[in-house]
Amino acid sequence: MAPRKLAAGNWKMNGDLASLDQVDALVTAAAGAGCDVLICPPALLVYAMATRVGTGELLVGGQDCHAKASGAHTGDIAAAQLRDVGATHVILGHSERRADHAETDAIVAAKAEAAHAAGLVAIICLGETEAERDAGSTLDVIAAQLAGSVPEGATAANTVIAYEPVWAIGTGRTPTVDQIAEVHALLRDHLAARLDDGADVALLYGGSVKPGNAAEIFAIPHVDGALVGGASLKAGDFAPIIAALDAA
Ligand code: PEP
Repeated sequence: MAPRKLAAGNWKMNGDLASLDQVDALVTAAAGAGCDVLICPPALLVYAMATRVGTGELLVGGQDCHAKASGAHTGDIAAAQLRDVGATHVILGHSERRADHAETDAIVAAKAEAAHAAGLVAIICLGETEAERDAGSTLDVIAAQLAGSVPEGATAANTVIAYEPVWAIGTGRTPTVDQIAEVHALLRDHLAARLDDGADVALLYGGSVKPGNAAEIFAIPHVDGALVGGASLKAGDFAPIIAALDAA
């Protein structure tokens, strides 16, 4: 079984009810595409988006969940609550959450376990800072984050890995093809060594993916899709990225 291709959009803290007008065009773009298409809007919009999608082929996900199943955690959201309102996936360990909320690899792994228990696919994000790349430690950083953030019980069916260099997120800068290829080869090797079906875990690249660079990125070995921020906010930008993944 080859990894299932996935075009995932991360709306971050952007959008409102009026933004759901994008959904119809996104459903059209997703229909018949040879890949999964996912949008992760702010948590407040998950239910409304999932309802608007209806029986369409667009998947809806969350951007974070708590590690616990329920309880006294004011302001937090449980994985089962995301599932209850129609989410199929949840992004975990995004570099903005690692930076803004001091999320460690252990916290990310605990959240991923909670996501799995609730029946969600965990999209676990990893990536080096610019200082780490300049210091030549990218591969060590990625290997350590992978080892620490992927929990026991991870499989190709419940886990996706997103390689997102911190310095490429929202900056318009992207790594070279060789730099992406090197990290994705490491991810594939380490997952294959650790998980029975590690060869089938989908590996996404994220960081300034746009319609103009998507085809080149999707041609890189072991790139099975993308996690897209800014270019996922408008269906007119995201649709060509979906088409490029479909064609890859
Ligand atoms: C992201 O936030 O996951 C991301 C990749 O953002 P952007 O595409 O805007 O760089």
